[in-house]
Amino acid sequence: MLGVPASYSFDMERFVARERFEKIKNFLKDKETPCLLLDLKSVERNFDDLTRTMPYAKIHYAVKANPHEAILRMLIRKGCNFDFASINELDTMLALDTSPERLSYGHTIKKSEHIAYAYEKGVRLFATDSEDDLRRIAKNAPGSQVFFRLFMECSGADWSLSRKFGAHPDTIFKLIRLSKELDVIPWGLSFHVGSQQRDIGQWGNAIASCRYLFDSAKELGIQLKLINLGGGFPAKYIQPTVPLEIYAKEVTRFLSEDFPEGIPEIIIEPGRSLVGDCGILTTQVVLKSKKESYNPYSWLYIDAGKFGGLYETIDESIKYPIYSEKQGPVEEYIIAGPTCDSLDVLYERDKYMLPKNLEEGDKLYFFSTGAYVNSCSLESFNGFKPPKVYVYDED
Ligand SMILES: *Cc1c(COP(=O)(O)O)cnc(C)c1O
Repeated sequence: MLGVPASYSFDMERFVARERFEKIKNFLKDKETPCLLLDLKSVERNFDDLTRTMPYAKIHYAVKANPHEAILRMLIRKGCNFDFASINELDTMLALDTSPERLSYGHTIKKSEHIAYAYEKGVRLFATDSEDDLRRIAKNAPGSQVFFRLFMECSGADWSLSRKFGAHPDTIFKLIRLSKELDVIPWGLSFHVGSQQRDIGQWGNAIASCRYLFDSAKELGIQLKLINLGGGFPAKYIQPTVPLEIYAKEVTRFLSEDFPEGIPEIIIEPGRSLVGDCGILTTQVVLKSKKESYNPYSWLYIDAGKFGGLYETIDESIKYPIYSEKQGPVEEYIIAGPTCDSLDVLYERDKYMLPKNLEEGDKLYFFSTGAYVNSCSLESFNGFKPPKVYVYDED
């Protein structure tokens, strides 16, 4: 921290236009807290930005980021495709009349009967990263297209998706070779460089590995067709990233340099970058206290926490912008949730500078809470209910 500024300031325009926030605040005026507002117009804008900056890519929205029906319906209308990871997510999409050609089963860890269920419903595109899973797909979803997921280190990402997923190129090569003997179509490769990835060069490394595997597959007589660039594109949190335009420009450059004969079929699986910015979580201050009179930091307990949607504050990974309407001198706060679990501390290592005069009942707005918030809330831990969700669709 670079010292405490004289008075509270917050650059709202980075996250939401002031005028729009005023309207939203009015809408939220008498809603009980905690509550989460989802601004559909923001999702729509992000979808348009992605299609504009990567026009060659087919977007498969990662449903887990926010499975709210209003978001799914709007994305269906916009022509989006979807990546699901469980039978429930698949059923949600089918219940909304999405045709199975628009769906991919992107999870590499799945039961045989779930593969069979997806196949029976018409799904023909599956991810894999192990021999067992590949054989299961061949058996339960014969003739389907498969893409092989590469292991990534995920350094540079705020929220890592490493280790658990993917396999090293040598193993992927063996899987591609094995797929020749099985009833599947080896269609391409995928990777996920880690969520909220700040180092665009990670896509460069991954695409170079894909080039290498495209060539190796060719020696087996297999022409791979697809690269799935995964998610990892940014939403707007406290620490700025370069704009999406730069991500798109760089990724496109990596692709055209590594594939001078023509860019393969491309899928992207955005979660956070599509829906992250659309959420405003309204919370209230429950209690402010000091552990000791001369301790420089106050504790601020609020009515939303790790078990009620702010799950990605684990390890203080995701730093949400927090806004107060109060003005005046500031103080550095440790911020914690309302439950009786000591894990329910949101930010302690990095303090938040908020007005000194905060008191019980004051509202705090968490911006950019559209991804992994309502989808990551417990039903009722300690009797605290998850934030109620409101959809905002005004112009
Ligand atoms: C979670 C997930 C995504 C979405 O990642 P973001 O970083 O939120 O964009 C994409 N693909 C897969 C396979 C995932 O598990």
